[in-house]
Amino acid sequence: MNSFKLLAIALLLFSQDLFAQSKTTKTEHVVLVTLDGLRWQELFRGADSLLVDDTGMVASSGSLLDEFWHADPNVRREKLFPFVWGTLAQQGQVYGNRSFGAKVDTQNKLWFSYPGYNELLSGIADDIRIRSNDKVPNPNMTFLEYLNEMPAYRNKVMAFGGWDVFPFIINESRSGIPVNAGFIPAEGTFLSEKEKLLNRLQEEIRGPWESVRLDAFTHHYAMEALRYQKPSILYLAYGETDDWAHDGKYDEYLKSARQTDAYLKEIWETIQSDPYYQNKTTMLITVDHGRGTTKTSWKSHGADVPGAGQVWLIAIGPDTPPLGEIEVEGQWYSAMLPRTIFGLLGLDYPEKKAASEWKEILGLTNSK
Ligand SMILES: [Zn+2]
Repeated sequence: MNSFKLLAIALLLFSQDLFAQSKTTKTEHVVLVTLDGLRWQELFRGADSLLVDDTGMVASSGSLLDEFWHADPNVRREKLFPFVWGTLAQQGQVYGNRSFGAKVDTQNKLWFSYPGYNELLSGIADDIRIRSNDKVPNPNMTFLEYLNEMPAYRNKVMAFGGWDVFPFIINESRSGIPVNAGFIPAEGTFLSEKEKLLNRLQEEIRGPWESVRLDAFTHHYAMEALRYQKPSILYLAYGETDDWAHDGKYDEYLKSARQTDAYLKEIWETIQSDPYYQNKTTMLITVDHGRGTTKTSWKSHGADVPGAGQVWLIAIGPDTPPLGEIEVEGQWYSAMLPRTIFGLLGLDYPEKKAASEWKEILGLTNSK
């Protein structure tokens, strides 16, 4: 795999004209959202018949059936993701339903979080250097960092995440992009009343996990920023779905997924009611990896879990024709995302820099 192949794939995306790409794009701002480890199976088919009433996965037998079950998968998915299927799929584009052969995959073969986020943020599947979830500063530059280096976007890029590794994935210390993640509070001299309350609640309500906070904190910190600091480029990474799945709690996994759908609605409605963002913002939603499909393997992911490299992508915005659910065969990759975002902004991707990173990864230069 080399940079030319990656570029060819990105051009393929453009040539299929599913995202419009030209110098006359309307997109001025981008909001990227990720839902950690949320399977395409739930997105496109709703609650899984194998798991929805399994006593090992659900605290109270039968408790999910009224809210999440229906024999028709198209009804089920609307129960789980009412905003995705009611609005995004009507006004935007939804990729990844493998029933139609519309495949979205990671190019990395590791199928866990840091490699997935590195790929979708940097456009490089770096299976050589990014091989763990350790808190190591990312050697690859993300599209967020490329944008933050440009005068038009400098200090207008912000990131919020549930997982405490995001400051390293985005390489906060090198990129200068503020990353509010893990249990970091809102910082600054002029905090809103809501931010002060969130800071206090985050101390008091720890949640079940050491390294991932509950999504409500990530969401509301980001919403305060969206309303008052108005970043031009916002990255928002929810984390609950993956951790509930690792815990084997299918009920909590579904409830978090549905809550995230409501968060997406709130983000989009806020964007479309704010003159700064309205009709000039593209929102993209995706995932860092998939999961397994059996009663055991759905809880996990990784190179040894078949299917865990299968992902999905949703887009909505002024340059995205309302094609809805993509029902044609095709192959897309997480690594296309940064080039797609640059295209939407009417910018050329810094291929030279990306290519030099590739050479370094492949050991073709001694640039240390
Ligand atoms: Zn993950």
